Amino acid sequence: MDGAGLPQVRSTCPYCGVGCGVLLRPDGAGGLGVEGDPAHPANRGRLCSKGMALGQTVGLEERLLAPRVDGVETGWDTALDLVATRFSETIAKHGPDSVAFYVSGQLLTEDYYVANKLMKGFIGSANIDTNSRLCMASTVAGHRRAFGTDTVPGIYDDLEEADLVVLVGSNMAWCHPVLFRRLAAARAERGTKVVVVDPRRTATCEIADLHLKLRPGTDVALFNGLFAHLREVGALDMRFLLEHTTGFDEAFRAASADQIDATGLAAGDVARFYRMFAATERTVTVFSQGVNQSSTGSDKVNAILNCHLATGRLGQPGQGPFSVTGQPNAMGGREVGGLANMLAAHLDLEDAGHRAAVRSFWSAPAMAESAGLKAVEMFRAVGDGRIKALWIAGTNPAVSMPDADAVRDAIRGCAFTVVSDITARTDTARLADVLLPATGWGEKDGTVTNSDRTISRQRPALPAPGQARHDWAIFAEVGRRMGWAEAFDYRAPAEIFREHAALSKIAGGFGRDFDISGLADLSDAGYEALEPVRWPVSANRTGGRFFGDGRFFTPDGRARLIPVRQAAPATRRSPRYPFRLNTGRTRDQWHTMTRTGLAPRLSRHLAEPFLQIHPSDAETVGLEPAGLARVTSPQGSAILRVLISEDAAIGAPFAPMHWTGETASAGRVDALVAPMTDAVSGQPESKASAVAVTPF
Ligand code: SF4
Repeated sequence: MDGAGLPQVRSTCPYCGVGCGVLLRPDGAGGLGVEGDPAHPANRGRLCSKGMALGQTVGLEERLLAPRVDGVETGWDTALDLVATRFSETIAKHGPDSVAFYVSGQLLTEDYYVANKLMKGFIGSANIDTNSRLCMASTVAGHRRAFGTDTVPGIYDDLEEADLVVLVGSNMAWCHPVLFRRLAAARAERGTKVVVVDPRRTATCEIADLHLKLRPGTDVALFNGLFAHLREVGALDMRFLLEHTTGFDEAFRAASADQIDATGLAAGDVARFYRMFAATERTVTVFSQGVNQSSTGSDKVNAILNCHLATGRLGQPGQGPFSVTGQPNAMGGREVGGLANMLAAHLDLEDAGHRAAVRSFWSAPAMAESAGLKAVEMFRAVGDGRIKALWIAGTNPAVSMPDADAVRDAIRGCAFTVVSDITARTDTARLADVLLPATGWGEKDGTVTNSDRTISRQRPALPAPGQARHDWAIFAEVGRRMGWAEAFDYRAPAEIFREHAALSKIAGGFGRDFDISGLADLSDAGYEALEPVRWPVSANRTGGRFFGDGRFFTPDGRARLIPVRQAAPATRRSPRYPFRLNTGRTRDQWHTMTRTGLAPRLSRHLAEPFLQIHPSDAETVGLEPAGLARVTSPQGSAILRVLISEDAAIGAPFAPMHWTGETASAGRVDALVAPMTDAVSGQPESKASAVAVTPF
């Protein structure tokens, strides 16, 4: 069928936190042409390999098209009544904390908002957490400790306006490719210096003037050393420190007590980095999963923030610490409070005044009073029977959680599990008592927020297939059937967005950062036509950077420097498990490949699970190039293709986390990862598990 003449749809890529705009051209036969949107501020028309292959991922062959109960197709009424009844009965018998939602950074803000409202305001528990916990929870914790709120100070343009960009634990070339291209283009044009801090040599190092291949997990020592150096050479901004911060003395004392030797770096390389940082006012420090996925992730974040606060380098063009998120809507999830320790609109769950305001706004009958279970704790509670009814939406924890075998067994043993997803073929969906068909990218309708706070519309270009429904509609329908008809009487995502924006006005009234009250009166047509817009959006201001005025969201308006000390990863090595396993993404796959696995051209890049290992380690354990290795940890084992490379860190091989399957030969790497977490953020330590490596 000739689709010429079908309208072009402006939407957003569903993968990484860059949040590229896409133009979708439906062909009229269920297919989609996809190209970059030249008008979107994040990508200006560019797309990476994953974005360009989106059109290959919209086929219906693997889609879940009707609700299923115990594997048998049924109607929505039967499935939804069962979900509402089982959740209500469980709450009545065992209390609100006996149920949990585990959601996803793939959900749209409107989906997240409704799920969070249902759990925190009506069920009366904060047991809603998200796979974003695995992505950037340490950044949230670090931001809140330093700034008083989870605020990203800068914008993408800062990477192009900086004279020095420091990339810490970030393989931006593969994980945020379009942002990397923007940085590479700026570097070519204006000579931006680039420093990469990473135990592994990655594709990102191709544009690095300096690669600091530090020992895994020693970022705090590196940045504490930098802090001490900045004072020594007189590079501190004393006026900024005196007028706009607290905690300098304690933070400096802690920093001075650390030894740079812990990093294992050559003194000359460290000195060169410190000189560059001290001498360059326009410096942006980008950090990502290498910082966050650590048992000291929050401290790593604050060690970086301390250096920017001590030099007053934030809130101005080309300056600032910059967290880049892994997922398309990790930021939107944070905005609606979709983490177990947050309230909506960046309000604090621990603050009675904030809780009362949200309770009143929602007319909520049973407001959560304290933090719920974070992801790792949540699945432990599922495993030991404290959680008796679980709803997993748009994610695959049986593969992606640390200690994935134990998580899979916990879900299997849960008294009642609901999974809403686009397919029945994930490892998690196979374990569900009730499977609910959700709309996917290309069909979904709502908003997402990218890493620089830009809110963009995801618009539908294809009809919902079969009986699939939007996630917000499924959560709302269950809320209605649980007895809260009025509170969940949504008919369209625009209604939810307006409510979300109106709630943010209350947050603004409390002096919080997240304020999109300027969008609270959007008409349906205005919502439909909404252009990408960076928050805040209020009567007072729109978009731009935070903290240029030196005012922070703490009670006294000052930023806090946080004393942090270098500490070893929580997971201990032993003679039996002598290596540290680093896990992460490859260039062309996404999460557990539910979508990217459908695009043949994406599998051509790296077609099978592998272990990248340094030649000296390979020789020690007797591995042959392109042979097979068995990698074993106390949690599980995986069989991986051997890739011997000097790019790997000595003692710390790397394996990608995308592959799924029941057996060790499937290369399910998160089955190896220890369920150790950062004590502040609850984020798992996904890059430092103790493992043994042997030939297979
Ligand atoms: Fe999508 Fe990220 Fe690639 Fe942009 S850079 S096209 S958002 S995966």
